[in-house]
Amino acid sequence: MKKSTKALHYGYEKDSQSTMAVPIYQTTAYEFQSPQQAANLFELKELGNIYTRLTNPTTEILEKRFASLEGGVASLATATGMSAIFYAVANVAENGDNIIFASKVYGGSTTLFIHTLKRFGIEARAYDIDKPKSIKKLIDEKTKVIFFETISNPSIDVADMEKIVKIADKNGIITVADNTVATPFLVQPIKYGVDVVVHSATKYTTGQGLAMGGLMVESGKLKAKLQGNARYSHFNEPDLSYHGLVYTDLDLPPFTLRARLSLLRDFGATISPFNSWLLIQGVETLGLRMKKHSKNTMKVAKFLESCTEVKKVNYPLLKSYKNYKLAKKLFKNGASGLLSFEVEGFEKAVKIVEKIEIFSLVANIGDSKSIITHPASTTHQQLSPKELKDAGVGSGLIRLSVGLENCNDLIKDLKQALK
Ligand SMILES: *Cc1c(COP(=O)(O)O)cnc(C)c1O
Repeated sequence: MKKSTKALHYGYEKDSQSTMAVPIYQTTAYEFQSPQQAANLFELKELGNIYTRLTNPTTEILEKRFASLEGGVASLATATGMSAIFYAVANVAENGDNIIFASKVYGGSTTLFIHTLKRFGIEARAYDIDKPKSIKKLIDEKTKVIFFETISNPSIDVADMEKIVKIADKNGIITVADNTVATPFLVQPIKYGVDVVVHSATKYTTGQGLAMGGLMVESGKLKAKLQGNARYSHFNEPDLSYHGLVYTDLDLPPFTLRARLSLLRDFGATISPFNSWLLIQGVETLGLRMKKHSKNTMKVAKFLESCTEVKKVNYPLLKSYKNYKLAKKLFKNGASGLLSFEVEGFEKAVKIVEKIEIFSLVANIGDSKSIITHPASTTHQQLSPKELKDAGVGSGLIRLSVGLENCNDLIKDLKQALK
């Protein structure tokens, strides 16, 4: 089945009412058929619903459909993208461990890694996304994760996944790719050997800025990487919090299972069934939207490049892009709706944001409506000047999330705002 067909059908077996739309199972709990069945469910002898903090039938359809779009074997939906990222790391790293991450990632991921994980005793080591070889010297026996974004938000860097995966595989370390900006319709990290793909479904997946959500997808080859790997003893030793379960012994994708049974159980960042349902509506048109976002953005990028007021435009499929060859190879169907450009200084950037009309000033991306942001005064305000520089966020940097409007209208609007 092709992705556009999967996006509409995968994972949904019509229930007794034969509804065309996926039903919303708005419930917190499920009746057991007998005390024996209840015991079987808790013991995992039988798989089924117990309580919505762990599983829900509407959410399960979203999970199956999204895992299949990413080419993975299982997925876990969460309340937000940040909780999916936290779970992907906390599933393997604990006090005394470290993770390696690309320095230019989403501001929330940077603060999670550098500040919050530190309080859990987990050290975060940054590497330059354009120098994947620099990962090698950061690795030691306590390294649990190598993290990067396929297209980074907001700095629009493109990860050379094959090179990163090669280093990770050689050392038996898990790679986690945040594919929020590209979505599986533009690139599937698992095809390049990535082990875990995370998403803020809040962005392109929901599409119209309707609902928060996160997704964590597991690749089919991750189980073999975990099995017998001393780096990941949690997956090979009995889990005392779950009657001595050994995750890699079961015939189920172990990474997702552990995140669900342990992290979702105890931290509880569960997505609401209603939001899962909204995300399913988004998934159905995701492919169409990504095509149009990419097309519009390419046109806007070319226009901005022709403007004297603009110092630099960052869009992976522009010939002037620093990693154009790599981007062209990875993003054959477009490079999504995110672009950034630099104008001279903080004041000029603020002026543009003030004058623009169709673009809304919003701390978000991936909406059907176009968005403009000035990261230095908003999303990245909490970072220190050094952290800003490491994240590639200059004071005159403006980020656009180009929507689905008529492209000529968007260009006209930018033209008047730049003057
Ligand atoms: C927005 C975003 C996140 C965080 O997702 P939330 O759903 O807001 O928690 C993580 N990564 C990237 C790349 C994002 O754009």
